[in-house]
Amino acid sequence: MSRLEVHQFPCLSDNYGYLVHDPDSGLTATIDTPEVEPIHAALDARGWKLNFIFNTHHHDDHAGGNLELKSQTGCQIIGPAADADRIPGIDRVVGEGDSVTLGAWAFTVHDTPGHTRGHIVYHCPQAGIGFVGDTLFALGCGRLFEGTPQQMWTSLQKILSWPNETLIYCAHEYTQANARFALSVEPDNADLLSRNDDIDAARQRGEPTVPTTLGLEKRTNPFLRPDSPHLQETIGLSGHPLVEVFARTRELKDQF
Ligand code: ZN
Ligand code: FE
Repeated sequence: MSRLEVHQFPCLSDNYGYLVHDPDSGLTATIDTPEVEPIHAALDARGWKLNFIFNTHHHDDHAGGNLELKSQTGCQIIGPAADADRIPGIDRVVGEGDSVTLGAWAFTVHDTPGHTRGHIVYHCPQAGIGFVGDTLFALGCGRLFEGTPQQMWTSLQKILSWPNETLIYCAHEYTQANARFALSVEPDNADLLSRNDDIDAARQRGEPTVPTTLGLEKRTNPFLRPDSPHLQETIGLSGHPLVEVFARTRELKDQF
C-alpha cells in the first residue's frame, strides 16, 4: 500500500485547504471547500481528479465551495448527519463511529459538537492523521458558537484519545495569536515558551505552523490542559472540575 498523500495550501485569509490522495486507487478528497480556485489549482498541479468532499461543518469557509465543486467535478459530498440541512449538496450523512474510505484507507468519524452543533472530525489511524476542522487548533480550540463548554470538552476528549504522534490538521492558521493567550494562562510552561519561539520563527519564514501533533498539543495547548495545576492556579480555579477550568479558559480567550 502506497503512502496516503496530504497536500496543504492556503485559502481565504487564514484557512488551510487539504487534498488527500490515495495513489493506489487514484482517489482524491478535499477536506472542506474553503475556496474553489485554490482547490482547482492544487488538483490541476498534481493531475488529480476530485472524487469526494469530506465536510467538517457548515460554516461558509468550510462548505462554501461545495455546490460549485460538485457541479464541476461530480464529486460526492460527505458531511455531518447532525447538520445535514446546512451542508450544501450533501450526498451521504455520517456520525460518531462511521467509517469513510478513500481507497483502502479508512477514516473514523467522530461527532465533536461545540463550535457548531453538527461538527465532525475525520481520523485515519492507519495513516496517523486527523482532520479536525474548527474543533481543535494549534494552541487553541474553536469558539463555542452553538455548543456548551461541556459538549466541547467531551468532543476534545475524543481527540485526546488518539495516539500522541497523530498529525493534527486544523483548518486555520491562528497559532501566533493563540500562543499569546496560552502564555497568559501558563506563563511558566517551558514547552510552551520554546514552542512560542518556534512559531515566531516559522511565521517569520512564511511557513505554516500546521500540522501539529497531538503530543505537542497535550504539552502546550491550554484547552487540552485543564488538569494543569499551573493553569488552574493562574486562572484561580485550583482543584475545580476539569470542565469548569476548560469553560473559564474558553471565556478568558474570548475576552483576550
Ligand atoms: Zn467554523
Ligand atoms: Fe473556520
